Amino acid sequence: MTTAQPPGAGAAGPGASPDGPDDRLRRFAAIWSRAIYPATATSMTRAEFEQHLVPQARRLAEALRTRPFDPGAGLEVGAALVAAHCTEPASLPHTLGVIDSYLTLYCPPDEPQPVEQLRARCTRLQHAVAEGFAEALRERTRSEQESMSRAALRAQAEAEQALHASEARFRAVFEGAVIGIGIADMDGRIIDINESLTRMFGGLEHHVRSRLVTEWTHPEDAPGVWAMLAEVMRGEREHFRVDKPYYRNDGTVLWTNLTVSLLRDREGTPRHVLALIEDITERRLLNLRLRYEATHDALTGLPNRTFFFERLESAVAAREGGRFGLCYLDLDGFKTVNDHLGHSVGDQLLVAVADRLGSCVTGPGQLVARIGGDEFVALINDPPEQKDVTDFAERILDALSEPVSIAGKELTVRGSIGIVDGAAGRLGAAEVLRSADITMYRAKAAGGNRYEHADPEADTRAITRHGLTNSLPRALQRGEFFIEYQPLVRLSDGQVNGAEALVRWSHPMRGVLGPDQFIPLAENTGLIVPLGRWVLEEAVRQAREWKFQHIDGRPLRVNVNLSPCQLHHPNLVRDTVEVLKEAGLEPSSLCLEVTESALIGADESLLKPLRELADLGVDIALDDFGTGYSNLSNLRRMPLSTLKLDRSFTRGMQRDPADPVDIKIVEGIVSLAHTLDLAVTVEGVETGIQAEHLRILGCDTAQGWYYARPGPPEHLHTLSLADAT
Ligand code: C2E
Ligand code: MG
Ligand code: MG
Repeated sequence: MTTAQPPGAGAAGPGASPDGPDDRLRRFAAIWSRAIYPATATSMTRAEFEQHLVPQARRLAEALRTRPFDPGAGLEVGAALVAAHCTEPASLPHTLGVIDSYLTLYCPPDEPQPVEQLRARCTRLQHAVAEGFAEALRERTRSEQESMSRAALRAQAEAEQALHASEARFRAVFEGAVIGIGIADMDGRIIDINESLTRMFGGLEHHVRSRLVTEWTHPEDAPGVWAMLAEVMRGEREHFRVDKPYYRNDGTVLWTNLTVSLLRDREGTPRHVLALIEDITERRLLNLRLRYEATHDALTGLPNRTFFFERLESAVAAREGGRFGLCYLDLDGFKTVNDHLGHSVGDQLLVAVADRLGSCVTGPGQLVARIGGDEFVALINDPPEQKDVTDFAERILDALSEPVSIAGKELTVRGSIGIVDGAAGRLGAAEVLRSADITMYRAKAAGGNRYEHADPEADTRAITRHGLTNSLPRALQRGEFFIEYQPLVRLSDGQVNGAEALVRWSHPMRGVLGPDQFIPLAENTGLIVPLGRWVLEEAVRQAREWKFQHIDGRPLRVNVNLSPCQLHHPNLVRDTVEVLKEAGLEPSSLCLEVTESALIGADESLLKPLRELADLGVDIALDDFGTGYSNLSNLRRMPLSTLKLDRSFTRGMQRDPADPVDIKIVEGIVSLAHTLDLAVTVEGVETGIQAEHLRILGCDTAQGWYYARPGPPEHLHTLSLADAT
C-alpha cells in the first residue's frame, strides 16, 4: 500500500518548493481557473476568478481530509461554479478533470492516507461536484424560467391594463363626442353608435340600429355616394366625405357632413366601417337662407338679377335643340307713381305687379324675376313653340290691365315688353338681355303697353347709337365736328342773304354723320350745350369773315339751330351776347332757329331768354313750322321774326300743276305770318317750279337743293358772288 504525499513533502512533487498548504491551494486554484475560465460567462478578470476559486479549492481539500468523509462540500462547490456562471457545457468535465488529476496532489491530507482511500474520496467528491453542479444548474434554469414566466405574466398584465386604458379612453371619446360616431361590420350591420348619433336621429337608438347602413337613402343624396360606400365595404376605398341628408325617426330631414372610413385589423383585413357624422342642418339652413337672400329681391320675394342671370346663362348655353324665350318688362310711367304718390305706394305697386306676374307662370320651365327698380323678366325654358313666349307676354299685359288698388286709390299699371326668343347656343346671356332691353325700349317708344319682338337690325341701330353716344364727348375735344352752310335766298331778287349752319360729325370709323344721327344723342347726354356753343362760335366767326369778304358789304346773316336743351340753359343769353361781342358781329346778323315742337306749350319763363335776345336784335325763327301743330294764335306772343315752313308744304308744288290744296295752305300761312309781321322762309326747295310758286305766293326767303346743297363756307361765297353779278 502506498500513501499520498503533499507536493512539497517529497522531491517528486510538481511544486517542489517548500511552500505551505495555502500556496498549494492557490496553485490548484490557478490550474482550475486556467481550465475553466474560458468557459465562464463571468464579468471577473482571470485573477479575480482564480481568487474566487481559492475558497472552493479549500472546501474540496478539507473534504478530502475530514473524517468521517462528507461529500456535501462537493455539492456546494458544484453549486458555486454555477453561481459563478461557469455553466458552459465544457466547464464541468474540465473541473472534474482538474479535481481528478490535481486535488490529491496539491491538497493532500495532513496525515498520510492510503492512496486508494484518497482516490475513492476524490472520486466521490467529483460525483458530488457533478451532482451539485447539475442540481444548481437545474435550479437556476428553473428559477430563470420562473422569472421569465413571471416577467411574461407581468408584461401581459401591463398590456391588458394598457389595452383596458386605451379601450376606456376610446369609450370616453366615443360616448362623449359631439360628433356622431357609428361602427358597422362589413355587411353594413350597425354594431355600435354613440349617443350623439342617436340624438341627431331623433333619440331612438333602435331606429338607427335596426337598419343596414345601405338602407339610409334620401332622394337628395349626392350622386356617387352609394358607389363610394360600396367601394369601402368591398375594401377598395379607404374613406370618403360627403354632405348627406338622412330622415330622422320623426320624418324630418337631418343634413350631415359624413366621413366614412374603412377599419382594417393588424393583418390589413377590412373589419369595420366607421362613420363620423356631423350635424350641419342649421349651418345648411343658414347657407340656404343667405343664398336665398343673395338671390331674391327683398321687396317682392321674386328671384333677383343674380339668380335670373344664372338661369338665363344655363338656358342660352349651347344644348342640342335647346330653345329659350325671354320677356323683358318695364312698367310705363312708374317714375310718376313714385314721384307723385311716394315710394311706399310705389313699393306696394311693385309687390302687386310681382304677384300678378307670378300668376302668369303656368309651368315648371318658367321663371319670373325682378331685375331692377320697375324691371321684371320672365324666362321660358324650352318653349314648345315661339307662340308660347308671345302668349306669356300677352298674359303679362293682361294681368296688368286690371287697376291695382292701393291706399284707396285705383292705380292703372301698364308695361312695355321686349321679347327675345330663339335657339340656345347662339347668343350669350348678356347679349340676350341687352337685346331684350333694347326691344323693350322700342315697345316703349311705340307708345308702351305693348310687346315687341327683338329685331337684329333695330338692335344694331340701337347699339350703334349706344356706341356713338359713348364717343361723342371725345369727338368734340378732338375737333371731329365741322359745319356746312346752306344759303338762304331772297325770293324777290334771288340774292343770297344768309346761310344756315348745319353741323356734321366726321366720325373716324363711320365717315361723315348727319345731325339726325347724333343731335338727339347729344341732347340726351347734355353734350348739346358745349356742342351748340361751339357751333354758335364757329358760325358767328364765319359770318364775320363773310362780312369782310363781301364786295358790296351787304350783311350776310347766319342761321344757327338751337335745340330744346339749349333753350332751357340758363346761360343762353349771356353766352350768345358774349360770342357776338367777341366776334364783333351785330346781333341782327344772327338768326336763332328754334323748332316748333320745342316751343309748344312754352310758358313765359321759357320765352323770356328768347325775348331778351330778340330785344337785343337777334332774329328768332320758328323752324319746321307746320310739323308741330302749334296753335297759330300762340305765334303772337312769341318773340319771333321768321317762320320757316316745313318741306312737307312745298312737296306738292314740285309737280306742274301744283297741288291746289298746298297752294291754298301756304297762301294762308304766308298771309297770316305777314299779318303778324313775320317773314316766311321755305325749306326744301328742290325745283325751279317750286321756287316760282313760292315767290308768287309771297314767301320771303327759300332754302333748298335747287339753290345749293349744304357745303363748305367758300361755296356760299361763290354762290352769292354769282348772284350779285
Ligand atoms: P333743319 O334746321 O330743318 O335743317 C334743314 C335740313 O334740311 C338740313 O338737314 C338740310 O340739309 C336739309 N335740306 C336742305 N335743303 C333741302 C332740300 O332741298 N331737300 C331736302 N330733302 N332736304 C334739304 P340736316 O343738315 O340733315 O339737318 C337736319 C336737322 O338737324 C336740322 O334741320 C336741324 O334741326 C338739326 N341741326 C343741324 N345742325 C344743327 C345744330 O348745329 N344744332 C342743332 N341743335 N341742330 C342742328
Ligand atoms: Mg334749321
Ligand atoms: Mg327745318
